[in-house]
Amino acid sequence: MNASAATAADAVNPQSNPLLTKSPLPYELPPFDKIRNEHFRPAIEAGMAEQKREIETIANSQEAATFENTIVALERSGELLARANSVFYNLTSSHTNPDLEALRTDLAPKLSAHSDSIYLDPALFARVAALYGKRASLQLDPESLRLLERYHTLFVRAGAKLSEADKTKLKQMNQQLSSLTTQFSQTVLKGVNAAAVVFDKVSDLDGLSQAQIATAAEAARTRKLDGKWVVALLNTTGQPPLAQMTNRAARQRIYEASIHRGWGGEFDTTKLIEQIVALRAERAALLGYPTHAAYVTEDETALTPQAVNRMLAQLAPPAVANARAEAADMQALIDAQAKARGTKPFKLAPWDWDFYAEQVRAAKYSYDESQVRPYFEMNRVLVDGVLFAAHELYGLNFKERKDLPVYQEDVRVFEVANADGSPLGLFLVDWYARDNKRGGAWMNSFVEQSQLLGKKPVVVNNLNIPKPPQGEPTLLTFDEVTTAFHEFGHAVHGLFSDVQYPTFSGTSVPRDFVEFPSQYNEMWATEPRVLANYAKHYQTGAAMPQALMDKVLAAGKFNQGFATTEYLAAAMLDQSWHQLPAGKTPKAADAARFEAAALKTAGVDLDAVPPRYRSTYFSHVFSSPIGYSAGYYAYIWSDVLARDTQHWFKTNGGLTRANGDRLREKILSKGFSVDSLTLFRDFYGKDPDIGPLLESRGLELAK
Ligand SMILES: [Zn+2]
Repeated sequence: MNASAATAADAVNPQSNPLLTKSPLPYELPPFDKIRNEHFRPAIEAGMAEQKREIETIANSQEAATFENTIVALERSGELLARANSVFYNLTSSHTNPDLEALRTDLAPKLSAHSDSIYLDPALFARVAALYGKRASLQLDPESLRLLERYHTLFVRAGAKLSEADKTKLKQMNQQLSSLTTQFSQTVLKGVNAAAVVFDKVSDLDGLSQAQIATAAEAARTRKLDGKWVVALLNTTGQPPLAQMTNRAARQRIYEASIHRGWGGEFDTTKLIEQIVALRAERAALLGYPTHAAYVTEDETALTPQAVNRMLAQLAPPAVANARAEAADMQALIDAQAKARGTKPFKLAPWDWDFYAEQVRAAKYSYDESQVRPYFEMNRVLVDGVLFAAHELYGLNFKERKDLPVYQEDVRVFEVANADGSPLGLFLVDWYARDNKRGGAWMNSFVEQSQLLGKKPVVVNNLNIPKPPQGEPTLLTFDEVTTAFHEFGHAVHGLFSDVQYPTFSGTSVPRDFVEFPSQYNEMWATEPRVLANYAKHYQTGAAMPQALMDKVLAAGKFNQGFATTEYLAAAMLDQSWHQLPAGKTPKAADAARFEAAALKTAGVDLDAVPPRYRSTYFSHVFSSPIGYSAGYYAYIWSDVLARDTQHWFKTNGGLTRANGDRLREKILSKGFSVDSLTLFRDFYGKDPDIGPLLESRGLELAK
């Protein structure tokens, strides 16, 4: 018998496919030592089939609809699918391989059709609607009532109330959107690769490190351009090498290659934008909304596009004023250098910004990363920093469980217990970068807490910290330390979840709220008592000198006018495209004019500060049917809540158990079982205000 035949037969056998049965491990941690590639497809397909049967049973029941036999039954449905999917999507993010990637491409449309088949099932919706209609008389507890309302909302927003003809139209639109947005993402990827800049002379790259130059030479060889140098681009307007490259003309070439991506030519995306934006507006109209932005924001804490506009408009003037002040500092430096050299000064251009910002930064704060890193040894940052702060604030205790299986040898598992010793969940730490892990940092769940299903949370934090050679310590940058605290804020949101229903578990909150607990948790990285506990020299154990820390903290406010303005410009572009009604969206030929006018109207059209993404490569908003469309504002919206919370802690005694427990009780344990903004007001005692955010970014100075 050959091995693959044995494998195929085994994979559908519950005895040999560990995904088909509930994990026997503590907290239902997936048995990673037994899970293999070939287990996923049969488990996910069996999961869809099982949920389909469960849904049919609910929808076709002869009994009258009750909360129990309809809504609770929906909550209980799909457990196998959820279990298999959570392992699958965690691994395709952090430990993937070509087989899993091929399977992901294959499954995407199937999983989306599966979801449509639930939300557009008329018999099922009839039962939900019947219950919703008499919800006041059902005597439900508040969380159950909210669950019924939530299901009704989800069905209606998915199109359940439409006529059969309109449902067909909607499904077509969804398919078209799915195809167009996939094309957008593929075209942007090809476009960014094609826009890599070729240099003939190595002197063009002056300022880059030997390693970067070697990478550029290697990139040229791969493209059969031996003897030349290729600088690859990232999918943002800004390109990191510009901070180092001394040759101004070379910087300009890279910058222009970046901002001209997608505007015409082989990898044009303006026609895709035209169609995506038009289709989204028509889809919103079909669902009864004036615009796509109205459709999206209704389900966020913002509620309306007008509220988003108001917030962005409040932030723009101080951000722009600071960006202008930063530009003036750099212009002064350019002029002084020209005078000293006896050359003609030039006007600061966008391709000069990072280069001169770096010089101003060095002059103003006079330290470099190599001075601080010895104080940020990875294990100390984790145990004596991140976990220590959680102990001081919430009384949590962490015990490493080396006896439990992991999916990769560097992953660590901690069992988390409350102050009274009661078990809370598992926390997995996967901090090292790997070439089979996607970029960035994130938190995810393997198991979501819910009382209904008797589950305690299993969460993971992923970072991308380069792994040093064997035997050398892992020393973090201050940015990486901040990211570690950030992601742990998400982890705590998942771990503290104490809700009845899985739909409301942990981080299942609106996009413009979900970053708040993580952005808030960053504050503990620099709290003096926490810092003193973890920032110790990895060789001598000496505390980090206060003067050095002060410089690091002060530098955190540097260049925030630029960073906030480029972000706001992109957020406003996103809103502008999606606040148009059906039939009023621009044609591809007008896209550039539309973009320029939108930035001008918003007051963020600074010559030297282009948007973080121009429309043609704005993947957050055009690369998936919904994605962050009309939702890119969410990052700064959440940050307002986070900085208000930081302000609250500072004015209420800081790092104390009483304060931590209050936040846990009022917000972090509630998931989405209560409206998010209501939770925030209950904690903060008033509406959010933008003052603390401006202060934290140093933006109130140049009003
Ligand atoms: Zn986050």
